Order: sequence, then structure tokens, then C-alpha cells
Amino acid sequence: IAIAPSQLQQGQIALTKEQQHYLTRVLRLREGDRFIAMDGKGKWWLTQLAGEQGQVLEPLVVETELPVAVTLLIALPKGNGFDEVVRCCTELGVTTIAPVLSDRTLLQPSPQKLERWRRIAAEAAEQSERAFVPTILEPVAFSSSLKLTSSQKYICEARGNFPHLKDCLPQPIDKEIIIATGPEGGWTQLEVDNAIASGFQAVSLGRRILRAVTAPIVALSLVSAACEV
Ligand code: SAM
Repeated sequence: IAIAPSQLQQGQIALTKEQQHYLTRVLRLREGDRFIAMDGKGKWWLTQLAGEQGQVLEPLVVETELPVAVTLLIALPKGNGFDEVVRCCTELGVTTIAPVLSDRTLLQPSPQKLERWRRIAAEAAEQSERAFVPTILEPVAFSSSLKLTSSQKYICEARGNFPHLKDCLPQPIDKEIIIATGPEGGWTQLEVDNAIASGFQAVSLGRRILRAVTAPIVALSLVSAACEV
């Protein structure tokens, strides 16, 4: 289960009502049974159920993170498509997701959506046994996200004769990578030009046109494949 840092004091985790319900009703754990608690910031503990508390038995070493910090700048798709993007990219090991508003993005999402994406990321990180819960940033204009710095920055562009992302990733992989994927209607030419002027390399994800929700998942899969040993 994921816990807030304030729940842990002197080796005891004060379980919330929801956590107690999940452990005893959903997982059907009994007194003395063991479970894993994580803080989403790199710490995991083997824990024993003790009434309304979790008794920490020992810290665990978790090595499920990618060796590269990947930031995805993702133009917000319509509807609830971003939920699935957050879930899948968390499973694949993303570090930071920046939802971006592009020239062809229709709506500014409500603050409730941001909370919802953060919750989805926490749940997905837990199920994928990740050490860290990815950071979901507040939505920003694509133009302001261009100033993010990294030695490797890519903008995925569906049209044009650009090299494939898999052929552009450095080997060994760098410590940080930023990848931008566009909205349903694609990036405008000005957005692509501005990105290139800000140090982004335009890349292809293959010959087929992927949906806006598929493209970031494919891009991250390629990075993950380039890192796994
Ligand atoms: N109608 C748009 C066009 O013709 O450019 C297609 C946009 S696509 C549905 C949404 C985004 O996914 C694109 O802006 C791009 O970032 C990414 N994408 C989709 N397929 C891609 C591909 N084959 N190569 C690179 N990027 C791709």
C-alpha cells in the first residue's frame, strides 16, 4: 500500500480507514500477516498487520526504476484519454509527465483532473512495484515547456522524413530525456519550428500515424527497451 510520510512514526504506520478496509476486506489479511508499504519516494518496507497499525519489520530494496529520468510533454487529448496515458506511462517507468496545452488543444483541464491523474499515477506505481510515483505537473502551454533543459530533447512528428526515435537515442542512454508528443490534430509547423530552435530534435515513431494517446506510450517503450539489460 502507498502511505503518506506522516503516517509512519517510530516503526509504526497509522493505517487510514481505507487502508484497513483494503488490507482486511479486499486482501483478507489477518492479524500478523505481512504486506508491503511504500512512500512513493523510493522507500519500501516489509510490514506486519497489527490492529489499526502496520508494524515495520524491515526496509526493502526495490530496483524497478529506469536508469534515465524521462519527462514526457504530452499535448492533452480529448475526453478521458489522458487517464490511460498516465496509467501506461507510469507502468513503463516515466519520471515526470507534463500535460501541455498546444495550439490545437481544445480545453484547459479542471483542477480535479490533475488530482485524478496524480491518484492514477500513485495506483499504477503501486501495482507496477515502482519505487517512485511519477510527478504529474500542472498543465502548461507548450511554448513555456520548451525551456525545460536536458541534453536530449525530442519532438515526435507524425509527418515528414525524420529519423526514428530508436535510432536517435544515445547508447548508453543519457541521464535525462525529454520527449514531446502532440494532440489529435498534430503540432502546428510553428510549434515544431520553435521546439527545434529550443534544442529539440524532430523524430518519427514509425510509418503509421499513432493516436495522440498511443504516441507517448510507444516513445516511452522505445526508451525503456534501449535501457533494459
Ligand atoms: N493529424 C496529425 C498529423 O497528420 O500530423 C496526426 C497527429 S497524431 C494523431 C498525434 C501526435 O502523435 C503527433 O502530433 C505526434 O506527436 C505523435 N505521432 C503519432 N504518430 C507518429 C509517428 N508515426 N511518428 C512520430 N510521431 C507520431
